[in-house]
Amino acid sequence: MHTIRPAALLAILIAAPAVAGAATTALQCGNIYDSKSARLVGAGTIVVTDGRIAQVLRERADVAGAEVVDLAGHTCMPGWIDLHVHLSGESNPDSYSERFRLDDTDFAYRSVGYAEKTLLAGFTTVRDLGGAVSIAVRNAINRGYIKGPRVYAAGKLISTTGGHGDPNNGLNSEIAEALGPPGPTEGVINGVDEARQAVRQRYKEGSDLIKITATGGVLSYAKSGDAPQFTVEEVRAIVETARDYGFTVAAHAHGKEGIRRAVEGGVTSIEHGTYMDEEIFALMKKHGTWYVPTISAGQFVAEKAKIPGFYPEIVRPKAARIGAQIQDTFGKAWRAGVKIGFGTDQGVALHGDNAREFGFMVDTGMPAATALQTATYNAAQVLGVTDIGQLEPGFHGDVVAVPGDPTTDIALTSKVDFVMKGGVIHRRP
Ligand SMILES: [Zn+2]
Repeated sequence: MHTIRPAALLAILIAAPAVAGAATTALQCGNIYDSKSARLVGAGTIVVTDGRIAQVLRERADVAGAEVVDLAGHTCMPGWIDLHVHLSGESNPDSYSERFRLDDTDFAYRSVGYAEKTLLAGFTTVRDLGGAVSIAVRNAINRGYIKGPRVYAAGKLISTTGGHGDPNNGLNSEIAEALGPPGPTEGVINGVDEARQAVRQRYKEGSDLIKITATGGVLSYAKSGDAPQFTVEEVRAIVETARDYGFTVAAHAHGKEGIRRAVEGGVTSIEHGTYMDEEIFALMKKHGTWYVPTISAGQFVAEKAKIPGFYPEIVRPKAARIGAQIQDTFGKAWRAGVKIGFGTDQGVALHGDNAREFGFMVDTGMPAATALQTATYNAAQVLGVTDIGQLEPGFHGDVVAVPGDPTTDIALTSKVDFVMKGGVIHRRP
């Protein structure tokens, strides 16, 4: 955040006509949240030209030639970033049979609404960590065919045989034999050579990053939710190959041993992290590993596990046990000083409810202003992207505003009044 001297303000006012024809918007904010320092810095005007932030003025100012948006009484923040969503689907009692009934076209049409809900909830960027159509959805948003957040898509998950992302889990033998054993192309690897092949295959398909399933998972049709499912050598082969293509690596992980191997193998982030303890926290701090908690998913599955028939019987006990644990682990992790990035696993819980995660974080004692930082300044670092997550000149014109002061009342994050992505206004008071 820059301190604007009157001379600088004058320069802006004079400069504005020079960019006539360029689309300039001036957001007159009652308050501005600085994500780097995690604090409010007072009233100001965010000037956005051609999709990027041109200037941030430390007062509510008129800018010649600009469309003015009055956000008096509102707090403006950098557009929020959710590091863990699945735009291709959403939990429902029929989820487990959908793959036999729906085509990718069906998944794609359905995701159009999910993407729009996510954007209108204030999330201008997401990391999609696995889903049949996420790469196509990303492309459709970037080309302007549909509305949605910026998407960084992992594409297919990388798992081991029988692992959390093995697409053949739970199939009867006739179908499994007809499909044949899945390999690196389908995202299933055994050994370091296949690990490398799977990363290269994701590159070929257009992924932006890599997602591995380092342990069992709650919702897969398999018994264990927490057993380790990769060797350290396999993780390392994935991380090293990913680096060749400029990919980060996100690791789904619940059990301690699988988390330890993922961290030692060099992954960028641990997702869920249910059974982490002080020893793992220290290891993550040593390696600089991020933690993306997804408390929302934990709460959702623990709740739904109480409803008979919502999940298959093999899933239900895992959902009840693991789901309830995540919020507690999160509280311990941030107190221990582990770096936190915001992620919900939405698609497990409902798209558009992403901001509830802020409340779940604050419930553990985290200050609201710090929770907001996890979805802005921190999350951009997890993505390795340097022009989102802050309201600074040169950054994308991604802005969300809520009425009042969300640093004292985090529930206001569910009352989003204004959303701008890349200089385009998608929601206004
Ligand atoms: Zn997930």
